[in-house]
Amino acid sequence: MNQQARIFVAGHRGMVGSALVRQLTAAGYPNVVTRSHAELDLTDQAAVQRFFETERIDVVLLAAARVGGILANATRPAEFIYQNLVIEANVIHAAYRAQVERLVFFGSSCIYPKQCPQPIREEYLLTSPLEPTNDAYAIAKIAGVKLCDAYNRQYNTQYVALMPTNLYGPNDNYDLTSSHVLPALLRKAHEARLGGAASLTVWGSGTPRREFLHVDDLAAATLFMLEHNVTEGLFNVGVGEDLSIRELAECICKVVGFEGELVFDASKPDGTPRKLLDVSRLAQMGWHATIGLEEGIAATYREFVELHAGSSAAALQA
Ligand code: GDP
Repeated sequence: MNQQARIFVAGHRGMVGSALVRQLTAAGYPNVVTRSHAELDLTDQAAVQRFFETERIDVVLLAAARVGGILANATRPAEFIYQNLVIEANVIHAAYRAQVERLVFFGSSCIYPKQCPQPIREEYLLTSPLEPTNDAYAIAKIAGVKLCDAYNRQYNTQYVALMPTNLYGPNDNYDLTSSHVLPALLRKAHEARLGGAASLTVWGSGTPRREFLHVDDLAAATLFMLEHNVTEGLFNVGVGEDLSIRELAECICKVVGFEGELVFDASKPDGTPRKLLDVSRLAQMGWHATIGLEEGIAATYREFVELHAGSSAAALQA
């Protein structure tokens, strides 16, 4: 990729977008273009078209999305399907019209069927039904993969789709009603330790298995794709190993220093039993994740404490 390329990071305030900006800046790309939500509403088709007509963008990193954990997905499916579909359609179509050759679309491992053989290979997409707790979000993300593919076939664009596993890292969402499991348990363990609580509540049975990737590794994989001129296709991005939610909770308690008991709340959903990605497609090209889980959680916890030092639980939710 040309070092002077004008790279639009859509969603630069989110966990993925902010990691991309950090990584691009560190790698010496001077022309990173960002817009806040107030400056450019990506669900506004006319505004998105105007932006691309005037900004001469060379590369788009489409990390803007409506995201959330199992509860938010299960209770607000309309917001998840509508906002994601509209953002993807607006950005991808406007990018094509403005002759943007390269684009990276970010999805999620939840696009794959619920009962997939493990580890999950890219070609398992659309081979059987989805997990119902996040099917609306998944359908929108599958549409994004298909948009890239269709535009490449019809218009010779070079749009690729990256499917990361469960992500964590700086700028994550710590609101317990909408967050994913890792930030939720990090916050719960922190507050349980500070409050001297005897126990910490983990949703579901603790038996589902998940794989966790530090968002800086995803940003590194993205740069790797751009710099190796990968021009089409769907690529899983993960670490190649998973663990149970119970094991994750134990690891987080160790990092945070909470020594109480784990209590499992069976009234909350487990979601899909397992989603371990097969990462051999990227591995064959020479890319591997480098941040270990315990090390990554420890770094994330330090950032969490710095950011929220002295803030009350109420302030964290704001
Ligand atoms: P998923 O990967 O799409 O299912 O999303 P999540 O990260 O929200 O949940 C992953 C698993 O962690 C599910 O089995 C949840 O029930 C479980 N889990 C345990 N405790 C929590 C919690 O406090 N918050 C969330 N979001 N999930 C939790």
